[in-house]
Amino acid sequence: MHHFRYVGQNLHCESVDLAEVARLYGTPTYVYSASTMADNYTRLSGSMKGLDAQVCYAVKANSNLAVIRHLGNLGSAFEFASAGEMRRVIAAGASVRRSVFAGVGKTELEIRQALEAGIYSFHVESEPELARINHVAGKLGVKAAIAIRVNPDVDAHTHAKITTGTSANKFGIPLRQAAAAYEAASKYPHITIRGIQSHIGSQITDVKPFVETLEKLAPLAAELKERHRIEYISIGGGIGIVYRDALASGAASWWDAQPEASRPLTPEVYGATLSPMLAKLGLKVLLEPGRSMVANAGVLLTRVEYLKRGQGKNFLIVDAGMNDLVRPAMYDSYHEVVPLQRDTTRRALVADVVGPICESTDCFAKDRQVQEVGEGEYLALMSAGAYGHVMASRYNTRPIPAEVLVKGSAFEQVTARETFEQIIANEKIPAFLK
Ligand SMILES: *Cc1c(COP(=O)(O)O)cnc(C)c1O
Repeated sequence: MHHFRYVGQNLHCESVDLAEVARLYGTPTYVYSASTMADNYTRLSGSMKGLDAQVCYAVKANSNLAVIRHLGNLGSAFEFASAGEMRRVIAAGASVRRSVFAGVGKTELEIRQALEAGIYSFHVESEPELARINHVAGKLGVKAAIAIRVNPDVDAHTHAKITTGTSANKFGIPLRQAAAAYEAASKYPHITIRGIQSHIGSQITDVKPFVETLEKLAPLAAELKERHRIEYISIGGGIGIVYRDALASGAASWWDAQPEASRPLTPEVYGATLSPMLAKLGLKVLLEPGRSMVANAGVLLTRVEYLKRGQGKNFLIVDAGMNDLVRPAMYDSYHEVVPLQRDTTRRALVADVVGPICESTDCFAKDRQVQEVGEGEYLALMSAGAYGHVMASRYNTRPIPAEVLVKGSAFEQVTARETFEQIIANEKIPAFLK
């Protein structure tokens, strides 16, 4: 459920008319609903009844400073995939003391920065990384707390997860080898074993893969608690959201209308299913949601530049491109496209909604039925709050888009649109060409 809805004929984010935002700040612009994020956060953190649970928001989903600060104010800790993301958390005025550092390629510099910042734990993805963390901690004269990311080999029904052969496994350490890796960890003088971690994938809309993962991890977690006195288990992120009926899903009536079996995974079902299993372990629980905190809290506003009527095919050419929102081009993902100003007297139009970039993958929607709109009118691409702005690029020398945060009737630009001067600021003509 989210806070985007039509008030009269105008699409609003909370109490703010999105057309006003578009006129004020131009397009393409991402707009986020603070109340939607707060609901998402509160529902998930409240779903783990009776447990000592800590949400560590996965910063990579949306790393805007205001978003980080907002979730931090609500009580969230953080999961970062780079020192850059960690530094964003610090720059946002949030604490990293309860936060964790994940990722397969942590550099020595990143490890040092994280140790100096005093993070809660490193999520280790390989044995060489363990050795490196021990080495860096030794140089600093400190102990590094770690958990090993265990790959339970569970099919999350998203992307194929099965790895074969003996080549290095990008996704953590296989369950079979995990006990040995923990034994190795226990021998390092500058390592403290603090937990166990698993993250099986993203946009998972069924609770079963999470259950299967916990079933596989539970015996090892119990053993580690006994042997190494671990204090926490992190069950990762990955909870999926509704993309197809994005706008309608904001209403409670939509959820009630879904047959129970086909209802997308809610935080309540997730929590109610997993907490009894987790309670048995007697460990602190970390949750690392990214997408489910922010995806349905964001839209990308775009302006229609042209309606091009081709042979048996219409194209709505908009001013947002794949550089601004790459998910459709990269993952064939679906985003609902809706007008900021609804007009039920107009005809429907079937069109490809495309951007201005010189790539045929620069397409947001194929043969999509939308209200007929013309030049200068605005559209919203729904559910663009996660893996949207963070993946934006300057391809075609287009500026990184603006971001606006809304709370109630208040709104503020939280990222200014880049200027051309900023885009070229780090470039120069070498002396030998002058
Ligand atoms: C990306 C990631 C997450 C967040 O995943 P979502 O699907 O966005 O919830 C959590 N943990 C780890 C280790 C990740 O890499």
